[in-house]
Amino acid sequence: MMIVMKEEATPEQIRAAVARVEAAGARAHVIVGELQSVIGAIGDREQVADLDLEGVPGVDHTVPISRPYKLASSQLTHGARTVIDVDGRRIGGEHFATIAGPCTVESRDVLLETAHAIRDAGAQLLRGGAYKPRTSPYSFQGLGEEGLRLLAEAKQATGLPIVTELMDVRDLDRVLEVADVIQLGARSMQNYTLLTEVGRTGRPVMIKRGLSSTVEELLMAAEYVLKEGNPDVILCERGIRTFETGYRFTLDLMAIPVLKELTHLPVIVDPSHAAGRRDLVPSMCLAAAAAGADGIIVEVHPDPDRAICDGPQQLRADELAGHLRRVEQVAEIAGKQLAVAV
Ligand code: PEP
Ligand code: MN
Repeated sequence: MMIVMKEEATPEQIRAAVARVEAAGARAHVIVGELQSVIGAIGDREQVADLDLEGVPGVDHTVPISRPYKLASSQLTHGARTVIDVDGRRIGGEHFATIAGPCTVESRDVLLETAHAIRDAGAQLLRGGAYKPRTSPYSFQGLGEEGLRLLAEAKQATGLPIVTELMDVRDLDRVLEVADVIQLGARSMQNYTLLTEVGRTGRPVMIKRGLSSTVEELLMAAEYVLKEGNPDVILCERGIRTFETGYRFTLDLMAIPVLKELTHLPVIVDPSHAAGRRDLVPSMCLAAAAAGADGIIVEVHPDPDRAICDGPQQLRADELAGHLRRVEQVAEIAGKQLAVAV
């Protein structure tokens, strides 16, 4: 339930309403708005139903949140959008951001070359996996700790914030040393203990939609992180499995406007993993921007034919700049500002 406070409600009255929510065994989530504050009362149905807030000083009215996800729901924020600031790069609201980099960190030279190329092309964040979820246990699994060390070096050299995947909670502390955004991959979207632990860190998180997950399941995954007090969740549409075999996954572009209706969280799109083919990536980036995405995440490599993994889908680093300019034009038409590099 959402408790909408009166414009003139005092901080004491807000504190008293919070205390009442907590006394009923529910959690209170205060959102201080420009005009009025709103308290999200999150708990099970009985706890919230027992809250009798009519006539409580400072309370204007209450609105039930009908969705199963509460903190992720746009009903909670009254249409205000979450903007995530990653070291000066903003994602969400009117901001559009590009995350780019190789599938995996493969060597110092390739990573540094890619990092400089994507920065010069105007991308805002560098992504690279040190821990890779691979379908086959015989495929390259990532450089692990050495990969993290190289990412730290790339960050130092370029100033770009780092997005990198966490697969196992045992690696959390190491990943936290370098990740500005923790990526939770499609296969981890329903790893609820991992979501909870990442929520506790307070570090921005990008959650990729599971291969066969519904939009609602994606939002419930976000809710696990938000529930731990971490507000910085980015959702990523990366294609879902359908009966179509003409390409790797079906990029669900309709999920963008639908998610943006249901949640205040930023929504970005990964056409690289959806397509599995480089030639489809540029048009799907444009389509994502046109559909209102808050950003894109694309795989980029200086020499994709020699990439250790996902070579066929990686954009050539020297083609990124021209491609991004076109995406930015579409994003601007869709009402976005470009993220500001610092
Ligand atoms: C990735 O981003 O490198 C990746 C493996 O993506 P996904 O989890 O979407 O398959
Ligand atoms: Mn990949």
